Amino acid sequence: MREPTDPPVVGVLALQGDVREHVAALRAGGAEAVAVRRPGELAAVDGIVLPGGESTTMATLAARWGLLEPLRDAVRAGLPAYGSCAGMILLADRLLDAPPGQRTVGGLDVTVRRNAFGRQVDSFETRVELDGLAGGPLHAVFIRAPWVEEAGPGVQVLGRVVGGAADGRIVAVRQGDVVATSFHPELTGDRRVHALFVDIVRRHLADAERGEP
Ligand code: GLN
Repeated sequence: MREPTDPPVVGVLALQGDVREHVAALRAGGAEAVAVRRPGELAAVDGIVLPGGESTTMATLAARWGLLEPLRDAVRAGLPAYGSCAGMILLADRLLDAPPGQRTVGGLDVTVRRNAFGRQVDSFETRVELDGLAGGPLHAVFIRAPWVEEAGPGVQVLGRVVGGAADGRIVAVRQGDVVATSFHPELTGDRRVHALFVDIVRRHLADAERGEP
């Protein structure tokens, strides 16, 4: 039996990508973090993180391991989810610059452009202010990152790039209990985004226990 004080169990999709870094960041953020590779493991988590890595590979592996549909169903049914970089791509309902037929988990009413920042600025670091995140701007690491080209009406824009060629581009969003960032907070020591997600998972659990949607 779960006690209200027990840490929430957050899964990290562990098919490819920077799984270990997310596990460490989630533990620091107050969750019990577990790797998810099979549908049965997915059924045992209170929230799921889709890591950075390579979204085409992750989608192919998820389909091969029978995880893509269960993931899609779980997020549609309200499982809190957080995706960084490739994870943002996986959570998008629509993609640009993706190979034909690239499948996603979906759940975020956004159009995401893969490798959006272009070749010259393959990888870069900057500061990004996130709406509602106390403590000042985050040090954000972008690696062949996507951006959100278009967000539906139910999507809250949490952060944008300030300055440079990508000025104003959307790089952090939230829709209900689904969060995505173009950048990789798991690669910096700043645990605020993971703590925010763990808090979303906790609230979701508390609402479920009270019988609220
Ligand atoms: N470009 C990668 C993709 O399309 C994402 C890169 C990343 O996660 N660092 O999946």
